[in-house]
Amino acid sequence: MATQSREFPPEIIKILKSSQRVAVLTGAGISAESGVPTFREAQTGLWSSFDPAELATPQAFHQNPKLVWEWYTWRRELISRAQPNPGHYALVEMETIFPEFTLITQNVDGLHRLAGSQATIELHGDISRTRCSFENQIISDWPETDEIPPHCPHCGELLRPDVVWFGESLPAEPLEAAFQAASSCQVFLSIGTSTLVEPAASLPFAALRNEAAIIEINPQETPLTPLASYSSHHPAGEVLPELVSKMKR
Ligand code: NAD
Repeated sequence: MATQSREFPPEIIKILKSSQRVAVLTGAGISAESGVPTFREAQTGLWSSFDPAELATPQAFHQNPKLVWEWYTWRRELISRAQPNPGHYALVEMETIFPEFTLITQNVDGLHRLAGSQATIELHGDISRTRCSFENQIISDWPETDEIPPHCPHCGELLRPDVVWFGESLPAEPLEAAFQAASSCQVFLSIGTSTLVEPAASLPFAALRNEAAIIEINPQETPLTPLASYSSHHPAGEVLPELVSKMKR
């Protein structure tokens, strides 16, 4: 990959400074610097060591609920030790800069909330929550048991993590709010996402149809890169704080 200056071009800063409506989509990459592994990167991504079909689908849970529950317990423990990084905190500051600011995340790690972002749209759920696999109700307490997974205290069906698995629909309300923000924003920032997982991958394209400027922050190229007004190929935790400080000047 060609080396690239970390400086954002002045015209990009100018567009941002004159924008009222900004939408941001984050993916696993924004949490990489917090020590949370991404999915799709060779070597370090979770899917280089695990098969998604065996761990993150309704079929996998049906066939081997214990394996799936234990894998999520391992990820939940890993995430519970993670702290927000400067990229998460820069987005908290951005929220105070723009009149209309919508933060949409595909992450299930809750780090935007922990950093202090308000009203984040979480498209894929929250790994720290548990729900009934039958009634879909969030369950916070259940009687102590050796059974893995434990059972719902109301209906007796299996409990599962409150995340969206491959092949499942996203919750309708957050998805609609995300598309609404994307199709009406003037600037769309795509940060740390491979732009491969639908329907979130379509959000920047909804913004493009509204002639929004697209800014991408990702060390790797993605299908969005050729269409972006500007792509920064540096880690989000380094460039986002710089972008925010430029915005304030
Ligand atoms: P992905 O693994 O497909 O892609 C991650 C992207 O982040 C890659 O393009 C990579 O180049 C980029 N990246 C890596 N380090 C970065 C950094 N420091 N700064 C900026 N970018 C960086 O992840 P995705 O696009 O979010 O895929 C979506 C799916 O991944 C969702 O289902 C989401 O729920 C799930 N996921 C979430 C978490 C989490 O909650 N932290 C972790 C892994 C996967």
